[in-house]
Amino acid sequence: MTTSIRFDGATLTRVLYLDAVIDPEPTGLTPDDVRAVRWAEPAWADNGQVRAASCCWVIDTGERRVVVDPSGNIDEILHDPTTTTAHQDAYAAAFDAAGLPIDTIDGVLISHIESIGLSAVRADNGQGWRRFFGNARVLLSDRALDHFRQQPAAGEKGDAFAGLIDAGLVDTFADCDEVIPGVQAEWTGMHNPGHCAFHVLGGAATFVGHLAVTPVHLGTGPNANQHYEPDLAWTWLERVKADGRLLIGPLWPSPGAGRWSGDSFAPYA
Ligand SMILES: [Zn+2]
Repeated sequence: MTTSIRFDGATLTRVLYLDAVIDPEPTGLTPDDVRAVRWAEPAWADNGQVRAASCCWVIDTGERRVVVDPSGNIDEILHDPTTTTAHQDAYAAAFDAAGLPIDTIDGVLISHIESIGLSAVRADNGQGWRRFFGNARVLLSDRALDHFRQQPAAGEKGDAFAGLIDAGLVDTFADCDEVIPGVQAEWTGMHNPGHCAFHVLGGAATFVGHLAVTPVHLGTGPNANQHYEPDLAWTWLERVKADGRLLIGPLWPSPGAGRWSGDSFAPYA
């Protein structure tokens, strides 16, 4: 169930942990909103529920191997003290099976601070947090870091990111910076003050971050439940849909990517 997409200059690989069907409420949609999107089923939705995944996308340029927004939004599962070791072991095995051992990952690229994901995991002694990708530095927008410093996240999420920052493991990038060769950051805001999208190889593929939490959002219009600037976010999505580039979201269900074809969003095949 690994998705692997080769471009001349980069390979994008999606390491899957699990696909699920969930109530759409956390995505700011109602079941009727989901049913109203005619192309949503069967790939992206099921009878008013939305499909989602826990997964990790890896950008491999040959020189760099960076994971994007690894396994976000299931912190209560991933970091449950009683089961986290099992999840970590299973994820490591999935990376091995994909030919991308976790110690070969050299960067964790984050669209925005919203969950810990696999940016950090509980330290083996149960105190504090450590890196899951032991040779990777965290790459975060300067605006996301500024926002975190002004309004530190509460609870364990705040502890985990503060730990990474204090350990000197976080590098920042600015709007339009090339974060690794061939991958350009675009600061977007709209969803959260530090939010960024990432464009691969001049826009052959775009990681949309949470501007579309589910692919269904590509058909549901402005969403004030998800974004503080919903109209701008919708305009942005319309723009990246229009040229048929590959679009990727960190929580999207398998195959995790697709292309807008004018009237529907077709899964990558
Ligand atoms: Zn978000």
